[in-house]
Amino acid sequence: MAQLTLEQIQKKSLNRLVGLNPVFKLVMEKLIERCYARGVWIVITQGFRTYAEQDALYAQGRNGDKRSKVTKARGGYSNHNFGFAADFALLLRDGRTVSWDTLRDDDKDSLPDWSEVVEEAKRLGLEWGGDWRSFKDMPHLQMTFGLSTADFRAGKRPTQTQLDTVLAKINSLKMEDGPMTAEEKAAFRALQNTVQKQAGRIKTLETAAKQPKVPAWAEQACINAKAVGVLDTTNDGSYDFYRMVTILDRAGVFKMGGIA
Ligand SMILES: [Zn+2]
Repeated sequence: MAQLTLEQIQKKSLNRLVGLNPVFKLVMEKLIERCYARGVWIVITQGFRTYAEQDALYAQGRNGDKRSKVTKARGGYSNHNFGFAADFALLLRDGRTVSWDTLRDDDKDSLPDWSEVVEEAKRLGLEWGGDWRSFKDMPHLQMTFGLSTADFRAGKRPTQTQLDTVLAKINSLKMEDGPMTAEEKAAFRALQNTVQKQAGRIKTLETAAKQPKVPAWAEQACINAKAVGVLDTTNDGSYDFYRMVTILDRAGVFKMGGIA
């Protein structure tokens, strides 16, 4: 199971982004990118629909059709028909399977991946179908700029200023909440400081333990100890070692003939 790159993930939604309003399309691409940065993989499963395609969907589950209903909107009554709506789903780690399970947590951060997508979507200024009262549409995301489908049917469209505002907003969003949250970063910095302090302390302890050369105050004691054959070498000893040699020397242990 290989880790997919952002490019590979983006590519999977390419066909579904055709026909969307260019600004809305950018928003969706940004959504895929921001979700990916948090460890959540998504694909766009539905994008632009013609009136005829919408009518065909509307017919599902109606007039003797045994399938279950998938939409309450006829042609011209869905924002999909105007290029300002798209539906997403989760992409599983096999890189192929699409899932509508709103409770999955594939990035194992104890947050349902679906909610993470919705959170990012709202940051980008998208409206979510899961917030609708009557007909909750969990995969649905849209941008309407205060226009109803009746407005859209009548030919009204968002102004350039409205679209520019969206562009400015998505460009100003930083990735600071991406792979690491601000809290996680602070915790990481604290950990780095602790490790650095401990490394310094370990070095001090090591230096204290192993003397680079025989300390001047222990030189004579070491000479005396070697002279009587108690030690062959007095190099690389610790502070405590030299202290002990000095004490023994003062006690007269290393005097010639002091040891039987
Ligand atoms: Zn939809």
